[in-house]
This record gives sequence, C-alpha cells and structure tokens, in this order.
Amino acid sequence: MNELEILDPRFRAYVLPNAPLVKLGEGFAWLEGPVWFADLNCLLVSDLPNDRIMRWTEDGGLSIFRKPSGFANGHTRDRQGRLIGCSHRHRCITRTELDGSITVLADHYDGKRLNSPNDIVCRSDGTIWFSDPHYGINTDYEGGKQTAELPSALYRLDPSDGGLRVMADDFVGPNGLAFSPNERLLYVAESGPQFAADPERHIRVFDVLDDGERLAGGRVFHTVTPGFADGFRVDQDGNVWSSAGDGVHCIAADGTKLGRIKVPFTVSNLTFGGRNRSRLFICASHTLFAIYTNQRGAQQP
Ligand code: MG
Repeated sequence: MNELEILDPRFRAYVLPNAPLVKLGEGFAWLEGPVWFADLNCLLVSDLPNDRIMRWTEDGGLSIFRKPSGFANGHTRDRQGRLIGCSHRHRCITRTELDGSITVLADHYDGKRLNSPNDIVCRSDGTIWFSDPHYGINTDYEGGKQTAELPSALYRLDPSDGGLRVMADDFVGPNGLAFSPNERLLYVAESGPQFAADPERHIRVFDVLDDGERLAGGRVFHTVTPGFADGFRVDQDGNVWSSAGDGVHCIAADGTKLGRIKVPFTVSNLTFGGRNRSRLFICASHTLFAIYTNQRGAQQP
C-alpha cells in the first residue's frame, strides 16, 4: 500500500501492507479528542469548532453524540470507564457519569479560572492528567475569546479529593500527553505560541517519580516535522504514534522515527481502538480516517 513509508525495519512488523486507509466520515470543521469505547464498539470524537461530539460505529456510521459540547477537545476514560473530557468554552474538566449527568471535576486553580484544557489522560492510580494552554480562549473559532488568568501548565487531578496540582509549568502551549506502558515516562507535546510564524514545537519526555507524585526531566524527546505533534498515543511496546502535518509518525522509545502512515490532510489527534485495539482512528482536519495496524495500543484508552 502506498499509504506506508518505512524508515526503519522495525516499522514493518507494526503495519499491514494490505490494510487500506479508510475514510469514515468528512465534512467536519476540525476533529480532535478521539476515544474508543470497546464495550460499546464505538468511537467518540470532538468536532471542535462545531461545538459537538460525534459518535461513530461500524454498523451505524456517524451521529451526533452531544451538542453543544462546550467546545470539547481531548477525551479519555477513567478506570471505571467513564468519559473524561476537556471543555474549551467552559474552561474545565468534566466527567460524564453512568446516568448521563455531567460533573465538573476542575475549573479553577489557586482561585483563578483554568484556560482551556486541551488534552487528557488517566493514570492507573485514578489520577487525571491534563494540559491547559491558551489555545481555546485565543479565538472565537475553538471556544470563544476570553481572558487568560493562569499561565500554561500541566496539571494532575486527584478525583478522590479534588486535589489539583501543577506538575510542570515551563511550557509554551502544552498539548497532547500520554504515559509509557509502565507509566514511568510521561510524554507531553509542546506546540508553541499559536500565532508565531515558526514556533518551536516538539514532544518532551518526563520521568514520573514517587509513584506519580512528581515529575523530573522534561527533555525534548522528538521534533515532529512537517507539522507538529498535537496529540499522540503509545502502543503496547512503548512506541509513540504521533500526529503530523503529513500523516501519522511512529516514533520508537529511543526517539527514532520508524515510519509514517501517509494521510492526505493535517493530522491532529489519533487513538487506537477497534478489534484488539489495533485499529488506528485518525483525526485529519475535516475528515475521519481509520487503518488497521499490526500493533496494539497500550491499555490506556
Ligand atoms: Mg490537542
């Protein structure tokens, strides 16, 4: 298949030469925040500027899951399987309860409003980690212009007591994030100032210390080009599958770019799902794609 670019022999074992890149839907504004529900055999994904969350199933195709969505962006699931999400407009983290009601888990830090939570992940201890850049309140397009009250930061929320802590704040635009399979590493995209002509953009890697109480390090792990890493997922072997301007880049834990799945539009976010977590769902601007791989996503949603 011409959708694959092999840059390192290791990549051959992770992809399927006969698996096509399939278009699942188009006509969106800008897709982000995909999350897979294996129990429901469905994908949820944010159509961010259209203020809605879409649902996709193999048999039923696409439908609206929630509108308005509060300009929802990133999603994940907690250890009880509940939907956890980021709202640009309402500047908060939410949890959708099993009865369908929505609980705001965090919207302030130190007496000031969060900016526009962007992407989110849960650790196996139940803590919720999310990035809070200014992107969503910089424009009316992705949530509505509002005044920032806090610097960009990476937060850790303990939903058992509501405790919210800044884990790192030396960021210009923290964005996607994911733990390594053993949760000893945390990858965080830094996507730079929104309106700069040539912003510095890369994925950083932190050491997770003291059972998730502290981060150290934060060196540049990999610089994605062309485009940049908005969101990414880690597979069961610890490779990072990142969004890029020309598709999905697979990056080994040693930082080597192993290969690429070519996608015709800029990719923002992606997630593993489907049968055995081996199908990659790809948010590419206004179009949703999927492709089966020969690799499985890590257990994290
Ligand atoms: Mg993002």
